[in-house]
Order: sequence, then structure tokens, then C-alpha cells
Amino acid sequence: MRKFLLAAGAVVLLAALFGATDLSSHLPAGVRGPVGAAGLPFKVAALGVKTPDERLAIPLRGVRVRQVANTWGAERSEGRQHQGQDIFAPRGTPVYSATEGYVWRVGQNRLGGNVVYVVGAGGRGYYYAHLDAFAPGISAGDYVTPETVLGYVGTTGNAAGTPPHLHFGVYAPGGAINPLPLLVDRMTEGQGARGKG
Ligand SMILES: [Zn+2]
Repeated sequence: MRKFLLAAGAVVLLAALFGATDLSSHLPAGVRGPVGAAGLPFKVAALGVKTPDERLAIPLRGVRVRQVANTWGAERSEGRQHQGQDIFAPRGTPVYSATEGYVWRVGQNRLGGNVVYVVGAGGRGYYYAHLDAFAPGISAGDYVTPETVLGYVGTTGNAAGTPPHLHFGVYAPGGAINPLPLLVDRMTEGQGARGKG
């Protein structure tokens, strides 16, 4: 009975998290969550009760937070508003997870192209889009940390024809939030001491 209640609780929690999170604009119709990732909903539910990350490691090494132009809420095609931040870097630059969490989905959609969606503490969703390619072997259910490569910067989806960039979105249970105030620089090996000027 206790197991059943825990399972039921997890399902309710997941429904609350993902029902309230606007994934519909990113995830293609008919594709909801991972396939074949046994136990993932329970792992995610456990993360859901943790406090959301207050700091997010910028997903690209070598880019400073101050270099990110704030385009949160900027007008986009089809009457949409920009629900994330674009971080520009050469094609093929590795994209690291900003947090620990579990990969919820690896796939494609019209706007985002190749996308990875990670669920972290507090049920927050982290959306990485326009990837040129996925990291080898990355799949739904994988545990990730800020040292995990998810994929590589590209121009897939509606980024075709733009300079290569990562679209980074953060989805709280109440909806999209601006990632920029949460982003922090990474300590990049060899930086500082060698003084590149
Ligand atoms: Zn974007």
C-alpha cells in the first residue's frame, strides 16, 4: 500500500510539474517524455521535491555571462516572444548541462531542431535547442551534471541561416523563466593564470 501511494504521489507530482509547464511549443505532438527509460519518472519525482538551482553554470565553456545579450521576451516569428536566451559560439562547440538532473528527452522539433530537455531540481526543465548534433550515446534517463556534454552548438530548427548558437530555455512549473539572472561563469581550465590579455 505504501509503495502504491508513493507511486501515485509521483504520478500526481509529475502531472503537476509537466501539466503546468508549457512544453507544448517545444515538444512535437504525440511525444511526451522518455520512452524506454525505466524508473525515470520516479527519479524525476525525487528531484522535484528539491529546491531549484539558484545558479546555473553557463552551458558553453569560454563564453562569459556578460557576453550574453539579453533577448528575453524579444519578439520572434509567428507572434511569439523569446522564452530563453541565445548563446553564440562556433558550430560544434560542446554544450554542457547547466545543472544536475535527468535527460527527459532527446529529439527534434520544428523550431528547436535537435533538442535535449533535462529535468532538474524542483522539477525545472532545461531546454537546449538548435544543436548541430547530440553527444554520443546521450539518451532519456541519463543522469547528468554540469560536466556532462549534451550536444554541440548548431543551427538546426528555425536557427537555419543564423550564426550558430545555443537556445537555452528554463521552464519552472509555472512557465518559462529568464535564464540570464541565474547564469554564472564557469571556471575554464587555463584561463586567468596564463593571462591571454
Ligand atoms: Zn533562442
